Amino acid sequence: MPELPEVEVVRRGLERWVAHRTVAEAEVLHPRAVRRHVAGADDFAHRLKGHRIGVPSRRGKYLWLPLEDTDQSILAHLGMSGQLLVQPHTAPDEKHLRIRVRFTDALDTELRFVDQRTFGGLSLHDNTPDGLPDVIAHIARDPLDELFDDEAFHRALRRKRSTIKRALLDQSLISGVGNIYADEALWRARIHYERPTATFTRPRTGSLLGHVRDVMNSALAVGGTSFDSLYVNVNGESGYFDRSLDAYGREGLPCRRCGTAMRRRPWMNRSSYYCPKCQRPPRITP
Ligand SMILES: [Zn+2]
Repeated sequence: MPELPEVEVVRRGLERWVAHRTVAEAEVLHPRAVRRHVAGADDFAHRLKGHRIGVPSRRGKYLWLPLEDTDQSILAHLGMSGQLLVQPHTAPDEKHLRIRVRFTDALDTELRFVDQRTFGGLSLHDNTPDGLPDVIAHIARDPLDELFDDEAFHRALRRKRSTIKRALLDQSLISGVGNIYADEALWRARIHYERPTATFTRPRTGSLLGHVRDVMNSALAVGGTSFDSLYVNVNGESGYFDRSLDAYGREGLPCRRCGTAMRRRPWMNRSSYYCPKCQRPPRITP
């Protein structure tokens, strides 16, 4: 799954290349890509036609394109391998092209949804009064959202009776933090991933949130270089952040702070990477 910074890079690309354009035609090349649109491919295409795309929005890893003059939005599910590409009409179809959207203007580009494994797709949903597709109304704000409430997050964390990495990945508490950025932020904050949330003080929560934001902003700063290209792209294993990872994927390599060999432990069908010296395990297991 792409994480928040990768999705934000795509959102900015779509804002630049797709916002305010009117749909001439949507073509569904594989029905699985619109399976979440219950009324089917013809209905999906019919509802898009003639509508202008508003400014793309994001909450956590969820990305949507509002359809102006309707109370609906196109929600993008990128899944494991989904990509939204803005391509010249003349570019050959990608092997796994699933949906094509053409616009009425004279620009020579179209929007393409390409997905090798077809776990992703596009679907239309009614908006909540906040302008959020109704199916993601339960998703919490993400830490880069200016309306994210640090104090409310701290109180929810204290109530949660959980461990910190589980809480960071709980999309109803805080959205957009995935496995990679959780490990990075915990390393920076010197917090072990199994630390009980009940032990968090306000300063500790504040420090952790600061590190979460720093990690995401530095990923965004690196990803920002791709905006100038016409090619808007996202996939699960983003290449541009790899060089700056301090924890994730560094098993056996020296901690960049203290030199101790980094460790990897199985964690909820995934892995947690940490420094055994900088990130001491909690004394009491919850
Ligand atoms: Zn260390």
